[in-house]
Amino acid sequence: MEIEKLVHQPHQYSLVEILKSTPAVQEGLTSLEAENRLHADGPNVFPTKKPRPLWRIFLGQFASPLIYILLAAGGIALAIGDTRDALFVAIILLINSIIGTTQEKGAQNSALALTRMAETKSMVLRDGYQIEIPSEEIVVGDIVFLESGNKVPADLRLLSSQSLEVDESLLTGESLTVIKEADGVFEEHASLGDRKNMAFTGSLVVRGRATGLVTAVGLQSELGKIVNSLNSEESAGTPLLIRMKKLTHKIAIALLAVTALMALLLFLKGYGYYEVLVFSVALAVSAIPEGLPVALTVALSVASRRMAKRNVIVRKLPAVEALGSCTYIATDKTGTLTVNQMTVQKIVNPEGEEVMVPGSGLDPGKEKLQALHVEELIRCGVLCNEAQLSFHDNKWAGHGDAVDLAFLVLGEKAQIKSPGAGSSIAEIPFEPEHQFAAVLHEASANERILSVKGAVEKLLPMCESMLVKGHKHSIKPDVILQQADKLAEAGYRVLALAGATMKATVGKIENPPAGLVFYGLVGMIDPLRPEAAKAVMQCQRAGIRVSMVTGDHPKTSLAIARELGLAQSMDEVVSGPALKQAQSEEELSRLILNGRVFARVEPQQKLQIVQHLTKNGFFVAVTGDGANDAPALKAANVGVAMGLSGTDVAKETADLIVADDRFSSIVAGVEQGRIVYNNLRKVVYLLISTAAAEILVFILSFIFDTPMPLTAAQILWLNLVTNGIQDIGLAFEPGEGDELDHRPRKPKEPVFDRLMMERVILSAVVIGGMGYWYFHQLIQSGVGIEAARNDLLLFLVIFENLMLGNCRSEEKSIFKLNPLRNKFLLGGAILAQGIHILAMYTPGLGSLLEIGPVPIAEWAHMFAMALVVLVVIEVHKLIKARGIKAQLASS
Ligand code: ADP
Ligand code: MG
Repeated sequence: MEIEKLVHQPHQYSLVEILKSTPAVQEGLTSLEAENRLHADGPNVFPTKKPRPLWRIFLGQFASPLIYILLAAGGIALAIGDTRDALFVAIILLINSIIGTTQEKGAQNSALALTRMAETKSMVLRDGYQIEIPSEEIVVGDIVFLESGNKVPADLRLLSSQSLEVDESLLTGESLTVIKEADGVFEEHASLGDRKNMAFTGSLVVRGRATGLVTAVGLQSELGKIVNSLNSEESAGTPLLIRMKKLTHKIAIALLAVTALMALLLFLKGYGYYEVLVFSVALAVSAIPEGLPVALTVALSVASRRMAKRNVIVRKLPAVEALGSCTYIATDKTGTLTVNQMTVQKIVNPEGEEVMVPGSGLDPGKEKLQALHVEELIRCGVLCNEAQLSFHDNKWAGHGDAVDLAFLVLGEKAQIKSPGAGSSIAEIPFEPEHQFAAVLHEASANERILSVKGAVEKLLPMCESMLVKGHKHSIKPDVILQQADKLAEAGYRVLALAGATMKATVGKIENPPAGLVFYGLVGMIDPLRPEAAKAVMQCQRAGIRVSMVTGDHPKTSLAIARELGLAQSMDEVVSGPALKQAQSEEELSRLILNGRVFARVEPQQKLQIVQHLTKNGFFVAVTGDGANDAPALKAANVGVAMGLSGTDVAKETADLIVADDRFSSIVAGVEQGRIVYNNLRKVVYLLISTAAAEILVFILSFIFDTPMPLTAAQILWLNLVTNGIQDIGLAFEPGEGDELDHRPRKPKEPVFDRLMMERVILSAVVIGGMGYWYFHQLIQSGVGIEAARNDLLLFLVIFENLMLGNCRSEEKSIFKLNPLRNKFLLGGAILAQGIHILAMYTPGLGSLLEIGPVPIAEWAHMFAMALVVLVVIEVHKLIKARGIKAQLASS
C-alpha cells in the first residue's frame, strides 16, 4: 500500500503526490477495507485511565480520620482483651464500608455511562457516500470532512480547504488560531506548528471547511505521542458539596469539643481510662454525620441519572445543582425553541411579486412549482449550498444546514438540480458571524457564476442592481427592506439571494463580494416546538427569566417570541447593532437587562450579554451550538450545549448537553436540579437532628448524674440502624411536584438557614428530651441499668425512624406524602427496624449488644410517645405555612 509510505511525515509531500497515491479520494475507503484496518490498527482512541477497581474503592472507605479513631479504639479494645467491643467495631466498620462501596461503584458506573453518551462523531467518505460515524471508528486512509466547530478526530493531511482556521493550543500551546491550507510542502523536520497542510488530532476548527486524508489515529497521532492516557476529568466536587463538607467539619469540631469536655468530666468522676476512651470515641462517631458525604454524592449521581432520562447529559457534576438555582436562561431560537425544519414558503422577487410554495418538510411532493421570474433566485439558493438531499428507500433524507436543505427542497420542487458537492471553485462558507455564504461555480468554458445568500442587510450593500424579468434594473434598497420587514413581521425567516457572472479567469471570491445582482427574498417557516410555549411559561412561574438570543431578523424573532409569550413589543427587542452602538457600559447593561429578545446578535456578543447579566446578579444558564459560542458557554454559570445541532467545541466547553436540543429539556433539568438540592437538605436535616438528639441524651444524663444511658456498642448500633441506609434513601426522594412553583433559591443561601436551625433544635429537644426523661424514669423506678438501656435504645430507634416522615418534605404534611413513592426509603426503614428486632431476639447478638426482647405493651407505649416528634414538626410546618401566606398577602 502506498499510503503506508505517506503516513510517515505526510507534510513533506505535495498535494499532487498525495492525491496520486490515494486512489480512494473520490470514493473513500470501502467499508470492508475500513473494517479490516479497524481490526488491524485498533480504534481511534486514547486509552483512558482504568476505573478504580472494587477492592481499592473498598479500602478507600477506611481513609477517613473518623475511621482511624474508630480503628484505634478497636485496637485498644483488643489489646485490653475486650474482644466483644473489638468485634463490634469491626462489624460496624465492615457494614459501613460495604454500603459506601456499593454506592460509590454505582456512581462510578453511571459516570462512565454518561461519558459514553457524549462521544463525538465525524463525517467521512466511505463507499462513495458521506456518512457520519463515531470518531473512534476512523482508520488511516479515511477521508474526513471538517467544518467550523469540529474537533479534529485524527491527524489529517489536508486535501482541500476553504478559509480554514484551527486552534492547536492543545498540541502546540499556541493560543492564536492558525490558518491551514492544503497546498504547500514543508520540510521533514518542520515543527508541528509549521506544518500548515496538516490538521492534528485534538485541534478545534474555529472557521472554515476542509477535507483531509487520515494519516494517523489514536496513539500514533501527534497528540497521542505526547499524552499516553487521557485522564478522565476528576471532578473536584460541587461548590455545594464543598460547602456542605466545610459545614460538617465545623459541626464535627464543635461536637468533638463537647465530647472531649464530657470525657474529661467523666474521667474526673472516676470512670476508668479505657471506658472513657471507648465511650468518647463512640459518642464522637455517632455525633459526626459521617454518612453525609456519601449521601450527598449519591443524591447528585441520582440526579444526573434522572437528568439523563430527561435528555440532559451532565458533563460537570456541579452543574446539577447549579441548574436548579439559575435565575435567567438565555436560549437560542433555532432548533431549541423551534424544530429547525425550514421550509421556503414564500418567494418575493425584486418587483414585489409573491410566489407561494406548497408543501412542508423535506418531501418536495409531486406538484411542480411554477417558477416564472424566480428561476434565477432558486438556482442561486441551490448552488450556494452545503447540504445534501437524497431519495433513499422511498424516503427523502437530508444532511446539513437546515436553511440550505430548504433551498435544495425548493430546487426539487422547481426541478432545478444541485450540481453536487465538490463542483465549486471557491467558497465562503456560512458562519453566523458573517451571516452570508458565497460559492463560485463553473458555468461554461468562459464563464463562472457567483451565488450569494444571507441576511438581507448584509447582502444589499453588495448589490449593484436587481433582476426584473431577466433584465438588470437599478436597485431600490428601501423597497426591498420594506418587503423583508413584512415577511419578518409575519414570522418568516428571511434570506436574500444575489449573484453575478464572472470571467473564467476569476478563481477567488472577494470578501465581501461586490457588484452583485439582487434576485429576491425568500420567507422560510420553522415551526415552534409544540412544548416550547409551556416550558417558557413554567420558567416564568418558577421565577426564571427567559430571553432569546438569535442571529435572526429582529421582527422574525419578535413574531416567534410573541407566540411563545416571551415578549410583546419591539421595545423588548434589542439588536446586535444597537449593542455595538451603546456609548457606555451602563447603557449596555440597561439595554441587556431590558431585553427579552436579542436579534441579529453575533456569537461574540452573546458573551457580552452573559457577562452583563452575571455582573448584575443573575445566575445565568446559556445555550449554544456553534464554535463561537464557547466563550459564552464558559462565562455563564451553566453552559448548555445542544446535543444534535451542537458542535464538538460547544459540547466540550459546556457543563450540560441537552441531547434532544429542546428548551423544555432544560426546564426539566432545572426541576431535577431543584429536587436534588431539596434532597440534600433532607439528608442534612435527618443526620444533624438525630446526632444532636443523641448528644442531648448524654448531656442531660451527665447534668442529672444518671449512669451512662447507652454503651459504646449501642451508640454505634443506633447510628447504623437509624442512619446507615435511610440517609441514602432520602437522597432518592422523588420530587414533590411543585419544585417549579417556587422562586429559585439564592445560590449562596446557606444550607443551615433559619428554618433548618429551628427544625433541628425542635427535633433534637423532643427526641433527646423525651428519650432521657424515659430513661430517667426507668432508673428511678428501680429497673436495672441493662434493661433501661435496652428500652432507651429501642425508643430511640423508633424515634429516629419516625423522623424520616418529617424529613421527606420541608413544607408538606406527612399525610400528603405517599410513602410508597419512595420504596427505597420505606424498605430501608422497615429493614433497619427489622434488623433491630431480630438482634433483640437473637441470643448471641443480643448479648453482644446487651439487648433483649421487650414486652409488646411496652413497645406500643413507646411508639405512641414517639409520635410526638411527628406532631411537633407537623405543627411547625403549619405555622410556617401560615407565615408564608401572611407574607404573601401583605406584600
Ligand atoms: P439563529 O441560529 O440564531 O437562528 P443564524 O446565526 O443561524 O441564526 O442565522 C442568522 C442569519 O444568517 C439568518 O437570519 C439568515 O439571514 C442567515 N443565514 C442563516 N443560515 C444561513 C445559510 N445557511 N446561508 C446563508 N445565510 C444564512
Ligand atoms: Mg443557526
